Amino acid sequence: MEKLKIGIFPGSFDPITVGHEYIILKAAKLVDSLVIGIGSNSNKKHQFDVAIREEWVKKTFDSHQNILVKKYDGLTVDFAKKENASFIFRGLRSTIDFEYEKQIAETNSLMNKEIETIFLLASNKYGMISSSIVRQIFINNGDINSLIPNAVNIPIND
Ligand code: ADP
Repeated sequence: MEKLKIGIFPGSFDPITVGHEYIILKAAKLVDSLVIGIGSNSNKKHQFDVAIREEWVKKTFDSHQNILVKKYDGLTVDFAKKENASFIFRGLRSTIDFEYEKQIAETNSLMNKEIETIFLLASNKYGMISSSIVRQIFINNGDINSLIPNAVNIPIND
C-alpha cells in the first residue's frame, strides 16, 4: 500500500487570520492529511487562550475532512513524528519571514532529517496580515472581522 502523505502546519494562531486560512487550504491540497498544530511559542506571550485559539481554527476548517487540528507542546519535529508526518508547512510573506523560517527549518532538519519543511508563498492580497497586527487592532477596540476567517467571530474588545 502506498504511504499516506501527511503534513503538519504549526503555528500560534493568536488569532487565526485570513492569511493563515489561505495558506493552509493550499497546503491541504498537497497532502492526504494535514494536521494543524497549535503550539505554545515560548518566545511569545499569547493574547488568546489556547482553547479558544483551537476552537477558532477548528471552526475555520470544519468542512474540510483532510484537515485536523491539535494542540501540542514541545518541539515541532517531535509533534511531526508523533503524527507520522513527513512535511512541515510554513508560510512566507517576506524576506524577514524567510530569514527567520530558514533558521528554524535548518535546525529542524538537523534534529530530524526525515522531515522536510515546505514553504508556501503568501497571497499578495493577504501578505501584510499578521496575528500581531490583528491583536493590535483588537487591543485598541477596532473591528478585526475582515482580517479573520468568515467562520470565526471575535467580538470587539470593549
Ligand atoms: P508562529 O508563532 O509559529 O510564527 P504564526 O501563527 O504567527 O505562528 O504563523 C504560523 C505560520 O503562518 C508561519 O509560517 C507564518 O509565516 C504563516 N503566516 C502568518 N500569516 C500569514 C499570511 N498572512 N500569509 C501567509 N502565511 C502566513
